[in-house]
Amino acid sequence: MSSSLINKVLVRQFGAIKPPWIDKETFYKLIFNFCDRWCERCKLSRICRLYQKEKEREKRFIKQGIDPKSTKAMFLSICESLEEAKRLLENDMKRFKIKITEEDYKKFEADEERKDRLVKNNRLTQIATKLSYSLVKLVEDIHYYFLEEEIPEEIKGSLEILTYYMHFFSVKIRRAVFSEIEEGEMKYEDITFDSKNSAFLSYVAIVKIINALENINNSKKIHFKIKQKVKKIIPLFYHLNAVLKERFKFGNFFNIYPATP
Ligand code: SF4
Repeated sequence: MSSSLINKVLVRQFGAIKPPWIDKETFYKLIFNFCDRWCERCKLSRICRLYQKEKEREKRFIKQGIDPKSTKAMFLSICESLEEAKRLLENDMKRFKIKITEEDYKKFEADEERKDRLVKNNRLTQIATKLSYSLVKLVEDIHYYFLEEEIPEEIKGSLEILTYYMHFFSVKIRRAVFSEIEEGEMKYEDITFDSKNSAFLSYVAIVKIINALENINNSKKIHFKIKQKVKKIIPLFYHLNAVLKERFKFGNFFNIYPATP
């Protein structure tokens, strides 16, 4: 695939996106592990088990008189998912005769806290969080600027993309760093390369963010002060992606976005 084609795919494809190092069989079996959860835009929702399950749940909520978009529905869904995960884990523990003592539990908790601290103090996580706040602020500024008038059609899509991904990319980077720590403490055969997959999803989101920012920057209807802010953060996102490619070793697959524009 030529780099311009890859470029178009990364910018236009939403929902599930196959990392180049994941084989087709694994990808199609577990697509919900390789997606941005933008289900309305996902072309593979018809084969996604998670999506089907969520639709069934929505129908059930409507029958029970619960608004599926409400906070109540959100908490009920989280509860159901956690209950199911607990049940599956308990079944497996019985099957493999695994017992967890109070001491094991405390050790696990302490270990999770240690890893959380490492993630929080990690430079990459901190930079991603700062950039995430910059995007939030920028989107707020644009909405404020167009408070009295309709947002121009030419930037509506870009704003929607920024709003969707402004937290997503940093959450995925956080997860990539967390998994990187875990993988460093695991046996090689147990590693699932979650860090690389999470970093890839963040990378794709950043490609879309850069594209959206460039589109906003090209709009004649945006105030020059907002453009100045946009111009300032675009290179930071380019740089962030260059770091992700290098650190999580998928540089060989993508040479489309250089370190600086
Ligand atoms: S339909 Fe499934 S694969 Fe697609 S975005 Fe939603 S959860 Fe992900």
